[in-house]
Amino acid sequence: MNERILIVEDNKKNMYLMKFILLSAGFLVLEAEDGQKGVEIAMAEVPDLILMDMQLPLMDGYEASALIKADEKTRNIPVIALTAYAMKGDREKTLAAGCDEYLEKPIDPENFVSVIQDFLRNYSASER
Ligand code: MN
Repeated sequence: MNERILIVEDNKKNMYLMKFILLSAGFLVLEAEDGQKGVEIAMAEVPDLILMDMQLPLMDGYEASALIKADEKTRNIPVIALTAYAMKGDREKTLAAGCDEYLEKPIDPENFVSVIQDFLRNYSASER
């Protein structure tokens, strides 16, 4: 069964790149361009994994992740935070919001898929 990945990202170039790589690898992709829509789609579709940009319009990725992790229906979906700012404390901030992992943008197209696959494998082994 193809795993479904929700990408929440407002930058069209980043969205296109991640979508292209994931579709090529056989994943099914759901898209949201702001945090509010991200939460709505997460609740409606319960994807297998969420890639969450942190800087988003309407609702940022920290708030969206916290809402997703606060809801019984969606709390077990792994959330990987994406942030462009490699600042000290960013990782802690995303983990505090309930995110399970942290990736810095720009993503590396060479190993993006293996990072996602490893994460899905390890997460389902350890936390479900
Ligand atoms: Mn953004």
